[in-house]
Amino acid sequence: MSTAPVPVLLPGNLPNAQWPDHLAPIAHVGDHQVSTNSEGGISLHTPPAPQRESRPGTMGGEHQMTLGVMGGGQLGRMFAHAAQRMGYFTAVLDPDASSPAGHVSHSHVQTDYLDEAGLALLTAQCDAITTEFENVPAPALEALAKVRPVAPSADAVAIAQDRALEKAHFGRCGVPCAPYALIETVAQLRAVDTSLFPGIVKTTRMGYDGKGQASVDSPTALTLAWEHLHYVPCVLEKKLPLAAECSVILARGRDGQVVNFPVQLNLHRDGILAVTQVFEGNIPSVLAQRAVAAAKSIANDLNYVGVLCVEFFVLQEGSPDALALGGLVVNEIAPRPHNSGHYSMDACDSSQFDLQVRTLAGLPLTQPRQHSPAIMLNLLGDLWAKGTPAWDAVLALPGTHLHLYGKLKASPGRKMGHLNITGTTIEATQATALQAAQLLGIAPWVLGGGNLPPATPA
Ligand code: ADP
Ligand code: MG
Repeated sequence: MSTAPVPVLLPGNLPNAQWPDHLAPIAHVGDHQVSTNSEGGISLHTPPAPQRESRPGTMGGEHQMTLGVMGGGQLGRMFAHAAQRMGYFTAVLDPDASSPAGHVSHSHVQTDYLDEAGLALLTAQCDAITTEFENVPAPALEALAKVRPVAPSADAVAIAQDRALEKAHFGRCGVPCAPYALIETVAQLRAVDTSLFPGIVKTTRMGYDGKGQASVDSPTALTLAWEHLHYVPCVLEKKLPLAAECSVILARGRDGQVVNFPVQLNLHRDGILAVTQVFEGNIPSVLAQRAVAAAKSIANDLNYVGVLCVEFFVLQEGSPDALALGGLVVNEIAPRPHNSGHYSMDACDSSQFDLQVRTLAGLPLTQPRQHSPAIMLNLLGDLWAKGTPAWDAVLALPGTHLHLYGKLKASPGRKMGHLNITGTTIEATQATALQAAQLLGIAPWVLGGGNLPPATPA
């Protein structure tokens, strides 16, 4: 007797994907009183939280706690999954009816980030609140913080939102960054030192994935670029000779305890992270130690609570900039888990999202341990151009872990998911990752980054 073949149900099959009605995200706003105070800030009149045990981090039993997140993107979704695994309820505030985190949370407050009723409802539902994107408006975080624990703080997020404040903070911490000039006025534009050319002009706020930037090689080009950027405040950074880019992700608790993941080696394409490689010796150990120490000092000096990512440039060995700046410079910070830390979900004993939950709930932190070499491939919407990617062939490879964010529309450059590859050796992991990349149509890369100086300790 022959049996009909069981169809393979591929995830992320966009043409047929529909969100079932009975699982449609909840969108509701309660009738909480709100008012605007004299400084124009938001005051939330939140009803007292239901009687709960006061010890932070208690979960389960009759005292289910709810952790909230501002923003419903994929980072919020992975935070919600980690929180739910530990028994927390989750609530998301995001205006989008079909946000990745809204889909998986117990509650989705579907309002604007500055909507006072929405913020009041979030505080009524949550015991503590975090954020998953740095551009969450500061007044919203300040208002939330008046009634609930919020981490990271509005102050720390405000610094990460603004490249000028960020660079001033790096200076206070004694961590070198690319030479730069502020461009907020015509006088500043005219006074730019020519040693900054060729350079990159970047808007101080709202830039991401290479957006809000332009390469400029002369004062004339800078003037034109600033016009294109509508004369918003910018920084002009000297373009540095990069050997590689890397990042450090750490978690810092309310008590000041800091734990960190190993240094991630990151390859960007078209301004978007494409590949992250994490294994012993991925960058020279002396640079790795310096990067971790710099990231810790940046977090400590902010009195930061939560998960923080610090991005660095490794400069080409022997170049004048490397000699002047010391070989490693900080680029920017993200006050949240980061795309370059997604490998931790499959290659470490705690993921960056597990640690985000712990910092928010006031639970103990332990140093995460990476148990397998790992390579992460970002899955951008481009991969769907000819239909659903060949997940069945990819998942037939050993040590492949597919994460899709439940986004129903793929467009070029949109982050749809990521693929983590783990293995017993670096070489085996790289071989599998290259096979997966070939199946998916992702261009290959060089193991370890190519231009890096040899991995010998100083
Ligand atoms: P975003 O916030 O969009 O990630 P970044 O400041 O990180 O912006 O810049 C995006 C990418 O552009 C970096 O990852 C790096 O590849 C390149 N880049 C940015 N600044 C410099 C610089 N000063 N010198 C050389 N390359 C740079
Ligand atoms: Mg960046």
